[in-house]
Amino acid sequence: MTPIHTDLLIIGSGAGGLSAAVTAAHLGLKVLVTEKDACLGGTSAWSGGWMWIPRNPLAREAGIQEPLDEPLGYLRHELGEQFDEARVRAFLETGPAMVDFFRHHTALQFVDGNAIPDFHGNTPHAGTGGRSVCAAPFDGRRLGAHIWRLRPPLAPTTLWGMGIASGAELRHFLNATRNPRSLAYVSRRVLAHGRDVLLHRRGMRLVNGNGLVAALLRSALDLGVELRTVSPARQLLHNAGKVSGAVLDTPQGPVEVHARCGVVLACGGFPFDAARKQAWLPHAPTGQEHWSAAVPTNTGDGLRMGEAVGAGLHHQMPQAAALAPVSLLPRPDGSQIHFPHLIERAKPGLIAVTRQGQRFTNEADSYHDFMAGLIAATPPGQPVEGWLVCDHAFIRRYGLGAAKPFPMPLGPLLANGYLRRGDTLGALAAACDINAAGLERTVTRYNQQAAEGRDPDFHKGETPYNRIQGEASAPGPNPCMGPIVQAPFYAVRIVAGSLGTFAGLRTNARAQVLDTDGQPIAGLYASGNDMASVMGGRYPSGGITLGPAMTFGFIAAHHTAGQDAPRFTD
Ligand SMILES: Cc1cc2nc3c(=O)[nH]c(=O)nc-3n(C[C@H](O)[C@H](O)[C@H](O)COP(=O)(O)OP(=O)(O)OC[C@H]3O[C@@H](n4cnc5c(N)ncnc54)[C@H](O)[C@@H]3O)c2cc1C
Repeated sequence: MTPIHTDLLIIGSGAGGLSAAVTAAHLGLKVLVTEKDACLGGTSAWSGGWMWIPRNPLAREAGIQEPLDEPLGYLRHELGEQFDEARVRAFLETGPAMVDFFRHHTALQFVDGNAIPDFHGNTPHAGTGGRSVCAAPFDGRRLGAHIWRLRPPLAPTTLWGMGIASGAELRHFLNATRNPRSLAYVSRRVLAHGRDVLLHRRGMRLVNGNGLVAALLRSALDLGVELRTVSPARQLLHNAGKVSGAVLDTPQGPVEVHARCGVVLACGGFPFDAARKQAWLPHAPTGQEHWSAAVPTNTGDGLRMGEAVGAGLHHQMPQAAALAPVSLLPRPDGSQIHFPHLIERAKPGLIAVTRQGQRFTNEADSYHDFMAGLIAATPPGQPVEGWLVCDHAFIRRYGLGAAKPFPMPLGPLLANGYLRRGDTLGALAAACDINAAGLERTVTRYNQQAAEGRDPDFHKGETPYNRIQGEASAPGPNPCMGPIVQAPFYAVRIVAGSLGTFAGLRTNARAQVLDTDGQPIAGLYASGNDMASVMGGRYPSGGITLGPAMTFGFIAAHHTAGQDAPRFTD
């Protein structure tokens, strides 16, 4: 096929790729985004859409002012030996400018995270709010026919295909059966969704990561970015020490894309690359024992293509992936959905236990810390698995994984074996093949602790992050602790998973990919999870993958256009 000529080639259409594409097109470059899958958006379109951007303009406008030294100090403590000051400063100083750029020049708008604390409230300089933003809901009708190119939200995280925005909207849904205002809100939302489905054959109010990608796509289209699907990049073009394009496998056959200003690798890391997982995730000794919630097309292509032109990889880090507990939801065709548990673990009345029926960590901690706790509690050589256990009152109030709260039925999930149930704790233990005496002892002890509101074993409910994830209106003294008493009892099995990966291509503060000697490879950039995480394998706060993905995409685009990205240094 005739070669294509462009200014900038972006490989991958998640937040990392689209941030770079929109920025570069705004700066006047001709941009081509190529995507392997049939739809655009990658894992970013399934995500919560939260971006950790300390000192962002929405926080500042609300009066939350903090000097750079505050988030910088937090990261210095959190990242320890992984703290790379040049890259961290580039991220922290450019992040606010990135938000400013998108809200003033593109279709992407934000809502604030001014009440959302960092994960580790006991670390010096931890924030109690104002360090994150989320994509605002987006009206899908603005995409016209292009909406059919957008990856839909992950079905089991929706209600009849309707995405539910995190924060206040989610609270309304969880309170719909107990608060008339919430019921009215939910009724309006469901009716509007039904109308959209009748008129447009799908929901049109796009929220969370789906709203983020939709707004980025609208912006890319407005700026004339060319978006290709079903066209995986196979290999970089590399001449005289410079990357100048790539070979794409398109439905019409292979085609060379020559990109005058270079290439951005944004293929979403290696969550489905068994060889890398085997090498870098000790809990996955054959590469199979890790069930990522990312999209399955993220098979490590960016890392491989980069390595083939001499790129260095950074994988010596505390965790090579953004860990999360995942349950395996059977599909009728025999495949499984990897369902990430992000919402219910901190609510009062749930515990997580091992096969011995013992608790192993603070259930209200972040998904990453929770999962690291389960891995640490698993004896070497044994499969990493645990069980989330709750009672009838809990599951009907909050749901459990893919099982939704009342009035949604539990029957189908009991029938396909996803949910286990027992009229007694002993019967539940038998249904899960876990130690019955151990589970009974654990629940008895836990119920006593819940009555006192104290968790001397794992300190549940002691940090601001724990508490905001819990239930503010719970009757007990601890918003994360409640008794497990009302039969029948339920459990779901969780295994090791992730929201994405941390290890990846070595880059500098300008998002340039570095070779094994630490020198930039001319014309080659990385963004999103193809770039080794600026957090160095640690997880200090929610939004630390999308925040850097958006920011380093913005930085990379400026560099390809021969400019320095603006920084906010006040
Ligand atoms: C349920 C869930 C909720 C999450 N919530 C948050 C959150 O709120 N905040 C946060 O920071 N993080 C969150 N994450 C993690 C976050 O979604 C990912 O870390 C982020 O989306 C990665 O962005 P990316 O651009 O690197 O990759 P992706 O968005 O996955 O995009 C990569 C794209 O590259 C394509 N691709 C792969 N290989 C090729 C190739 N050879 N050629 C062309 N295209 C290719 C893929 O098909 C894919 O579309 C969440 C994850 C999940 C699963």
